Amino acid sequence: MTLTQDDLRVPLRPCAPWCRDGDGHPGEHPDDRSCWSSFNPVPLTMHPAVRFGPQEYLYAAVDVFLQRRPEADSPVLMLHNEADDREMTMTLDEAVMLRDAITALLETAERA
Ligand SMILES: [Zn+2]
Repeated sequence: MTLTQDDLRVPLRPCAPWCRDGDGHPGEHPDDRSCWSSFNPVPLTMHPAVRFGPQEYLYAAVDVFLQRRPEADSPVLMLHNEADDREMTMTLDEAVMLRDAITALLETAERA
């Protein structure tokens, strides 16, 4: 039996329904075929603004998005601080705990 090039082709994995590309990422190396959601920037107006181009400044922002890595079944939630290029990655269960903690604190603040 002789294999053809088609037999050696790494199959595309279907994208997550929320992937902003949605095409299986055919032009990317199989190890790099992560699905990415929209980035959902949240302005951080209490932080120094960031230079954007020669005459413009933007509020610092944290991007909130999902990534499903090529080897993973479940996505992770990521927070990326654009100002210092730092990021935090958490499981969806951890993201739910963070959401619940923030919600509880906001409810406490709103009652005060
Ligand atoms: Zn994708």
